Amino acid sequence: MSARLLEGKLLAADIKAGIKSGVESLRARYNVSPKLVSIQVGENPASAVYIRSQKKNAEGLGIEYRLERLDEGSPRQALIEAIDKLNKDRTVNGIMVQMPLPPQIEAGFISRYISPLKDIEAMHPQNMGEIVFGNAKVLPCTAAACMELLNSIDSLDLYGKEAVIVGHSEIVGKPLALLLLNKFVTTTVCHIATGERGSLPEFVKKAEILIVAVGRAGLIKGEWIKEGAIVIDVGINRVDGRLIGDVEFEKAQERASYITPVPGGVGPLTVAMLMKNLVEAFKLQQQLYT
Ligand code: NAD
Repeated sequence: MSARLLEGKLLAADIKAGIKSGVESLRARYNVSPKLVSIQVGENPASAVYIRSQKKNAEGLGIEYRLERLDEGSPRQALIEAIDKLNKDRTVNGIMVQMPLPPQIEAGFISRYISPLKDIEAMHPQNMGEIVFGNAKVLPCTAAACMELLNSIDSLDLYGKEAVIVGHSEIVGKPLALLLLNKFVTTTVCHIATGERGSLPEFVKKAEILIVAVGRAGLIKGEWIKEGAIVIDVGINRVDGRLIGDVEFEKAQERASYITPVPGGVGPLTVAMLMKNLVEAFKLQQQLYT
């Protein structure tokens, strides 16, 4: 068997076309374009690529994009104040803070200062909590991207399927586990302790749906993949100047039924999900203000 590719790039193009026409009708109705403001503290070169991609994507969809910069040495309070100003500015619909942040600011706490209504990365505890109840209006982008990929498989009925997620981060593994549970998928979450105990192969071998978000090239061996499994590789690793995922792609492709390429799988969908959240946030705010 050779797995079919789950190409996020193609799916993202479809989703973005829908967002673009949605933005046009919102502009016609409210006479204003949705606006996203991104805050960067310092000038980490790793963020530059993401910022360029966000700006290009936003502007291509008719969304206004502005980058606000704070000095590298800014204290946590300066960032909180900048966020608060944007929270109060009715012309701003979405706020995001670029990662990584300099060491004096703990990243995990910053999302709670963004108004839940403008939290387009869906990392505010209130938005996270809504996922538990299956009521979330915005979803963490990478977790949502994984769900979009699964939903794009016509023949897949998620009900009762057995999924294994490797990685339990706040941005991917944990929210994804809840999204899968909400669809009645029997979900197991593995993490560093599973790896250290040596039981990772045992769990992976049982997975009908395998989603890996660790950041270690080749962590998941091709021979562990269950015949016919769906494999979503979120990992991004730069090895010898090339981007590769966490799963041994060629060997896994021989056993899986569907697999995401890296790059071109989850990544392009993540930014589409961000823009989708922004449009949702814009609509929620218009309902509140008018
Ligand atoms: P993180 O660094 O916050 O967490 C890593 C997770 O992997 C943790 O749960 C940890 O316990 C687990 N882990 C580490 N070593 C392990 C091992 N040996 N066995 C099993 N589990 C192990 O991760 P993150 O921020 O979710 O990112 C994970 C990867 O996904 C990275 O490569 C990141 O670049 C990539 N990523 C991609 C996108 C995208 O849009 N494609 C978005 C976010 C993250």
